[in-house]
Order: sequence, then C-alpha cells, then structure tokens
Amino acid sequence: NSSLHELDPDVAAAVDAELHRQQSTLEMIASENFAPVAVMEAQGSVLTNKYAEGYPGRRYYGGCEHVDVVERIAIDRVKALFGAEHANVQPHSGAQANAAAMFALLSPGDTILGLNLAHGGHLTHGMKINFSGKLYNVVAYHVDEATNRVDMDEVERLAKEHRPKLIVAGWSAYPRQLDFAAFRRIADEVGAYLMVDMAHFAGLVAAGLHPNPVPHAHVVTTTTHKTLGGPRGGVILSTQELAKKINSAVFPGQQGGPLEHVVAAKAVAFKVAASEEFKDRQRRTLEGAKILADRLTREDVKEAGVSVLSGGTDVHLVLVDLRNSELDGQQAEDRLHEVGITVNRNAIPNDPRPPMVTSGLRIGTPALATRGFQAEDFREVADIIAEALKPSYDVQALRARVTALADKHPLYAGLKQD
Ligand code: PLP
Repeated sequence: NSSLHELDPDVAAAVDAELHRQQSTLEMIASENFAPVAVMEAQGSVLTNKYAEGYPGRRYYGGCEHVDVVERIAIDRVKALFGAEHANVQPHSGAQANAAAMFALLSPGDTILGLNLAHGGHLTHGMKINFSGKLYNVVAYHVDEATNRVDMDEVERLAKEHRPKLIVAGWSAYPRQLDFAAFRRIADEVGAYLMVDMAHFAGLVAAGLHPNPVPHAHVVTTTTHKTLGGPRGGVILSTQELAKKINSAVFPGQQGGPLEHVVAAKAVAFKVAASEEFKDRQRRTLEGAKILADRLTREDVKEAGVSVLSGGTDVHLVLVDLRNSELDGQQAEDRLHEVGITVNRNAIPNDPRPPMVTSGLRIGTPALATRGFQAEDFREVADIIAEALKPSYDVQALRARVTALADKHPLYAGLKQD
C-alpha cells in the first residue's frame, strides 16, 4: 500500500510535472477542462476494482449493490440535466459512445450523412479510416464557402439524393450553433434517424446557454470532459423507445465491464453541472470566446494576415484563419506554446496546407473559465495571443504576462507543485 511516489517515482515525477504544466501555463485547447478535485477523487476510488457487466439491478456479477447506487445516480442526474428520457452512462469515451449509438441504429453498409472532417466534423462522423468510414457508406456535408456556416441546403439535397439511415449533426471545430429543428425536419423527410453529437457544447447546453438538441434528436451523444468539465468519458441519451437498443449496443455490443469509478466521477460532474456556479462559468466561457474573437478581428491583427473564421463565435471556441499569415498552423501553435499558451492547430475548410501542418488554430476558453478568468483576464490573454501572432514579438515579455495571469488564478492549489 505504498504511495505512488514511493512505489513508482518515475511515473510520479511525470504526474507532478504535468500538474506544474497545467498550473503554470494557460490551457486553451477547446476540448479540455480542469476536473474538480471531487471528480478526480471519485475517479481515483476503490470503484476501479469492481466488475459490473450489465446494468443496475441486472448485473452479471455479485457485489454490485454499491456501484448500482452510483450508476443510478449518474443516470438520473444526466437525464434531469438535459431532459432526456433515457441515458446510458457507460461509454468509455466519446468515440465509443458514437460507435455504440451507430451500432444500435445501423447495419454495416448503411449510409450515414455527417459533417466533413476538414469542415469541423469528428473522426467518428465518417472519416475514411475510422470505424465509421469503414463500416458505413459515408456521405459528407460541408460549410458554405462564403459564410463558413453549415450549408443546410446541401444537407437537404444530399439527404434526398442518398437517403441516409442516419444524419449526424455535431462538430469538433465549428464556431456557431446548429439548427437542430432543421436537421430533424430533413431527417423526417427521408426517414433517417437524427443523432446529435454535442460533445463540445454539452456544458453550454446544461447551463441553458445553447439550444438543447435532446428534444429534436433520436439520439444525443456527448463526452463528459470538454465543456461539461467532468472525467474523460462518454454518455448516450435517447428516447425511451430506443433505450433497449442503445443499452445492448453498449453492453454487450461494444464494451465489457463499465468503469464504475468513472461513472461515479460522471455523477459528481453532473451534480456540479446543475449548479449556479457552473452556469456562471459557462457564461464566462462564452464571454471569453467573444472577447477573443473581437480582439483577433482588429485591424492590427488583420494586417498580420490573421482572421477569424465566420467572423466571430457563438460558442466556446474561435477558429483562427492563417491562410494570409506568414505563419502556418504548426508555427502558430509552437509560438503560443513558447509564450505559455496551449492550443491546437486545426485544418480549416478548404485548407491549402496538409493536415499535419494546417492553416488554422482552434482556441477555446472552457479551461480558463474554470480557472476563474473574468472578462478583463480574457482581454489580456486575447491581446497576448494577438501580439504573439504578429511578425515580430517579444517572447520574454509575453511569457511574463502569461505567468502573471496564471499566478492570478491558482489551479489545484491543494495538490501542491506550482
Ligand atoms: N465527438 C466529438 C464531436 C468530439 O469532438 C470528440 C473528441 O474530440 C469525440 C466525439 C470523441 O471523444 P473521445 O476523445 O472521448 O473519444
């Protein structure tokens, strides 16, 4: 029963270094967040030891009375949070939630219609070498070239032409809201299921700051670790009618034993997500993204060839367009890393550069909002980013400004390091 530091100093040192990295830099990867200590405590609990194949009250193992309590709490909380008739909280990740949802609704060879990866879709929405692209016949819709918004006329045209069995609405890199009612109307017209993957914006939905897809979709999938701010994991929400199909697609269709320690952590995160404090955090997340978009569309930034896709944002992220900049996506990501800001390069629609380089950056505000950033802090970080993307920049000065912001908003103070 040694501690991690005693038993395995090599791994412990890397964990400590990661804690220090999170504390001393500014995390702006749009899909990341900082889980509360209580979430990590649940995830690090003895529940990791328990096999619990099956569902509460109907397990294939003995001794499940306590994990049953935990899983029922998680299910009830997430149903209430999003107004869903049915919830499965067992998917190990967002990708596995999508795999299971598709497994429930489709047969291999069926046609799916999803947003093209380079236009903001996720790998699991039909990318060629992902399971979704290998198992199903994929037709992709796109964003409009002029507006950079999803082209609903194209969605309708492709749906009528290809008659997909499933339409996927959702994204990994898109700065605007989708029209779920319009997607459902098109799905109904062609007899397709509508699946919304709200992995990115679920926290905004929980806070009532983004339209809720649940009333419109047959199935809604999500991760629990992005804007929702919980442990890494997935959830599937559906109508009662599809409940059995969804459950048997997750287990025994796709997974074995559920990770009940993660289910416990999800339950804690859902409790947090129903709080006023969480709502305020999501409000600051949106405010921060708008501030970022405003500052990155100023004249002095435009002169450096930097612009913002679609001209702004309605969500927690901004997509920076570097097609006219001397920097490509990789160089811009490296530059921000140099000053202590972590982002990811991202392909943009019709990107002239290869996927490992790209001409875009995806910059998100959820983690900084969790850290306590207010409007004035987001203004400062936006100005630091704007300066760093200009042809000449002062690394030392910008790094000092980043450190000042990090010091102003301490992270995980109870966990030491720093
Ligand atoms: N769906 C969307 C829209 C995502 O952006 C992601 C992750 O980036 C996933 C699903 C997959 O989630 P995970 O990484 O947990 O498998």
